[in-house]
Amino acid sequence: MKKELEKINSLLKNYFGIPKLNKRTPNPLDILIGTILSQNTNDKNSFKAYQNLKSKISSWDDILKMRTSTLESIIKVAGLGKQKANSIKNLIKNLKSVNGKISLDFLKNADDDKAIEELTKFKGVGVKTASCVLLFSMKRNVCPVDTHVHRILNRIGVVKTNSPDKTYFAIKEFIPGNNGHSLHTNLLRLGREFCLPKNPKCSLCPLESICHYSEKNLGKTTLKQKNDFFLLDKI
Ligand code: SF4
Repeated sequence: MKKELEKINSLLKNYFGIPKLNKRTPNPLDILIGTILSQNTNDKNSFKAYQNLKSKISSWDDILKMRTSTLESIIKVAGLGKQKANSIKNLIKNLKSVNGKISLDFLKNADDDKAIEELTKFKGVGVKTASCVLLFSMKRNVCPVDTHVHRILNRIGVVKTNSPDKTYFAIKEFIPGNNGHSLHTNLLRLGREFCLPKNPKCSLCPLESICHYSEKNLGKTTLKQKNDFFLLDKI
């Protein structure tokens, strides 16, 4: 699997380039709340909700005094307002009662698996959300798996899994060194531009030469040719 992920990463970097990584280290709690807001909506709406929320509070402590209905109306542009308001309120309350302060600093020394385990204890925080905190704030070499990444890796034939979480755990040991961010970001872009849920644009896709699914979709490259491609890997 390592060779396959290296090849995918290399082809995507050649095609899309190396995605820019924010050099700043954002506060993990900011990233976690931003990612909760981004669930099931687009970047524009989740960013707007996040900005609305930040403009109404001076620190995350203020959430404790805020009614859940008020929080819900502040973030409603991101959709699922009630659910997300409950998740955020529950998260802040738990951090305060368990750790005595509203911070995720306690994760600093945890390894990746432990950090995911701790974060997913919070209601409304799944593996994808937790792995985004690790990648974007803690700068860990992980590849968050959303529906795009899950769909692509299954179509290519790197994994055979039935959920994004299972895909995350299947590939986590094999992420090419320091390429978690580039792999995640470029796969996401591929999923939006080429590997669409319906009618993927296989004939134009930069991964067509190594993808098992494209064989069905295009009916041309043989499975043997694709296997040879990996075996002759010259990365
Ligand atoms: S070749 Fe087709 S199925 Fe395979 S990754 Fe590209 S778009 Fe998706």
